[in-house]
Amino acid sequence: MRLLFLGTGAADWPNPGAHSNGGRRFSSMLLDDAILIDFNAMSMDAVREFNVDVNKITDIVISHPHGDHFDMKTIEELAMLRDASLPPLVVHVNTKAIERSQPSSEAATRLALVGYLPCDSFDCHGYAFESFAANHALEVPGELAAHLVATCPSGERLFYTLDGSWFPSRTWNQLRKAKPVDVVVWEMTCGTLYDWRVCEHCNLAMIACEAKFLATFGFLKPGILMLCSHIMRAACGDMDQMRKEVNEAGFIVAEDGMRFSTTA
Ligand SMILES: [Zn+2]
Ligand SMILES: [Zn+2]
Repeated sequence: MRLLFLGTGAADWPNPGAHSNGGRRFSSMLLDDAILIDFNAMSMDAVREFNVDVNKITDIVISHPHGDHFDMKTIEELAMLRDASLPPLVVHVNTKAIERSQPSSEAATRLALVGYLPCDSFDCHGYAFESFAANHALEVPGELAAHLVATCPSGERLFYTLDGSWFPSRTWNQLRKAKPVDVVVWEMTCGTLYDWRVCEHCNLAMIACEAKFLATFGFLKPGILMLCSHIMRAACGDMDQMRKEVNEAGFIVAEDGMRFSTTA
């Protein structure tokens, strides 16, 4: 499994433009060069900065339709850059959000929008996705946020938790019985701070607690790679101290442009 972080910031970061320069764009990640998870208004600059081959991308999976995770105009821009002879770029997004997300007529033939709801499973050209309800409110009635598990063709499994606070009890019950995962991308919006935003996001103490329980039930493989993303600017005052505390807890702070690969 290969991961490239196109953005690792929460919604309070300014747009850095063409070069990230140590800042953070809104969260987006590329799996095995082919599957984008979340794609927002800052993501095209990251595609260019980190030399992503747009013709290898087959699917975009949107965890939830907040603006820092989903921007249809930017998805259209990506679709128009792909070779016109390729099959349409498939966008998996919350079923309710499709109503307000129709592409322009110019891009319509380059895109296929497929709705899903939390607890649905779906296929992304050989990558099997499962979705789980997240504890994260959306403003548009009926729209819902999901956590995602992707099983790669290699059999390796990725757990992607952006955005959500403590897992809802239904999700917890599903995860503790699920097959183990090899990599987790944790939402750590609040970093090491005890901030009011923990009502719908996480800090290090919360993900450490959740990871401990999930490991006890066998959902996290021993020696698992655990990466932290979606970090708010307000939590990034002393990055050396944050990285130290995060590392001591068994996690790694992801940065824009970081690549990770596992061996399978
Ligand atoms: Zn977010
Ligand atoms: Zn959100």
